[in-house]
Amino acid sequence: MNSLPTLSHKDYTVGWICALPIEMAVAKAMLDEHHNRLSQNSYDHNTYTLGRIGRHNVVLACLPAGVIGLSSAARVASQMHQTFEGIRFGLMVGIGGGVPSKENDIRLGDIVISEPTERSGGVIQYDFGKTVQEGRFVKIGSLNKPPNVLLTAIADLQSKHKMEGHELQRYLSDMFRRYPMMDAEFARPDVQYDLLYNAEYDHIIRDAMCLQCDKGKLVDREPRSSKDPFIHYGLIASGNQVMRHGATREQLRKELDVMCFEMEAAGLMDEFPCLVIRGICDYADSHKNKRWQGYAAATAAAYAKELLSVIPGNLEVSTPKVVETTNTSHQGRLGHIWAMAFSPDGNLVASASKDETVRLWDSTTGAVRCMLKGHSKFVRAVAFSLDGKLVASASGDKTVRLWDSTTGAVRCMLKGHLHIVRAVAFSPDSKLVASGSADKTARLWDSATGAVRCIFEGHLDIVRGVAFSPDGKLVASGSRDMMVKLWDSATGAEYYTLKGHTNFVHAVAFSPDGKLVASISDDKTVRLWDSATGAALHTLEGHSDFVFAVAFSPDSKLVASGSRDMMVKLWDSATGAALHTLEGHSDFVLAVVFSPDGKLVASASENRMVRLWDSATGAVRYTLKGHLDPI
Ligand SMILES: [Zn+2]
Repeated sequence: MNSLPTLSHKDYTVGWICALPIEMAVAKAMLDEHHNRLSQNSYDHNTYTLGRIGRHNVVLACLPAGVIGLSSAARVASQMHQTFEGIRFGLMVGIGGGVPSKENDIRLGDIVISEPTERSGGVIQYDFGKTVQEGRFVKIGSLNKPPNVLLTAIADLQSKHKMEGHELQRYLSDMFRRYPMMDAEFARPDVQYDLLYNAEYDHIIRDAMCLQCDKGKLVDREPRSSKDPFIHYGLIASGNQVMRHGATREQLRKELDVMCFEMEAAGLMDEFPCLVIRGICDYADSHKNKRWQGYAAATAAAYAKELLSVIPGNLEVSTPKVVETTNTSHQGRLGHIWAMAFSPDGNLVASASKDETVRLWDSTTGAVRCMLKGHSKFVRAVAFSLDGKLVASASGDKTVRLWDSTTGAVRCMLKGHLHIVRAVAFSPDSKLVASGSADKTARLWDSATGAVRCIFEGHLDIVRGVAFSPDGKLVASGSRDMMVKLWDSATGAEYYTLKGHTNFVHAVAFSPDGKLVASISDDKTVRLWDSATGAALHTLEGHSDFVFAVAFSPDSKLVASGSRDMMVKLWDSATGAALHTLEGHSDFVLAVVFSPDGKLVASASENRMVRLWDSATGAVRYTLKGHLDPI
């Protein structure tokens, strides 16, 4: 085992607070990397867990065992803030009681996020003793709203979810794969245990699981078609006692329009700017039990992780021999870049963006050469033809567009997919284009006429990667169904299904000699397969997060992979051995390419930093940081 990294206090920018050990367990399980502990003052009694999630260094702290509630949360938060002065915002992540209504169909396992309204900061504090006994609720106060960085991120995430759905299942699967023992306590309970009784019907007998309760008093709800949790944004009520009474819950809902009850947020919102994220584990009534707590804690933590993925980070990594410009002020203005590709000679970088455009950058000067406008929804993938003359872009508008890379003119539009197009590739002679879509098919198109040549059907989920063999005879496709398939590009026949990945496949590539297929996955591995037999050859393990990019050297001897762990790795394609780890990116690596002579590797990261590395030694040649900025 490698020793853990040791950072300094000021490197930590996110504070994550939870109240219960089960909430802490899932918070730890969401860390992409653990860090060594740091010193703390004698008056700071918190126990911290330090680590990284995506591009954020995160401090986790749990309330003392058995001491939950407002004042305890406030104390933990203020000590955390004193010890870690760099914290920009906090996340209060854990379980809560849901407040279902006709308007808000809240189910167990769903998530409620505190969202400010015009009159409230998102969390309403009430005093249970005073208010309930007087027969009505008096709102004690409305707390500060979360900081803007979080509100902006929520808006960003909401639009992403509207377009593509959420990724909570991906984070949960990843957690269960890394920590299989968690399955027992944190897996989703069967829906038969999600019982909502009429608000007035109280639990009578003290059996924990409502075996004696009258099923005739259940609220009749349509079953959901999906097991995926829903995400609700609204007001959260924070009080000093557990809410466990249906009629009271209903009364408070009518008065204050809240969606969730919990017990800690009010204690810290005014001191510690934070967002409250609650997985719904019960309905805040007398029938509450603990069956859903583990899963609800896990969905809340997964949401927190996804939220962090859309917030720009400020991980600073010191690097040798950096030639960089200083203009980083535009970073983030483009929102998400979802994919990047290098031209075959490495001179151009194409970036696919949420803003419906593709930009072509000069990779050595950072200047924008061309802006490709025309898609009516986000662009999800880009590719260059082998001669570098054409760029293909795949979009949420269900089309692929082919562009002239020098003039930016649209050459052809490929229409026919029934859903978002997620992947695109040119055949070696540029006459064909392959595409992969959320409609679970890959298609082959004539790049001159736009006619469909072939539809490859057989994947069970979104096709996220496509590639041609160097002779153009085979097409490889990789899917969210965790499989890679090899197809005959002339007949559409399926040759092989390559199974082995344990999470979604992100992309595929052929070696230039045609002998190998590489596939990369959210299971953090690169796999190499024999393209003639479909046999699994090597599993390249070493990345600590999803792998986003892969490329072979021109002589097929090296494989470069880029990951969300912000690293590029070089591997020996014959043995699968790890040769070099190229460190220095401060954001997710989205594209890698070798120079035509194989001596250099270029990598591009989401914050539009391009690095060039010596492929033999792994040393950085130079860096263009923050240089790829919008005009
Ligand atoms: Zn009951």
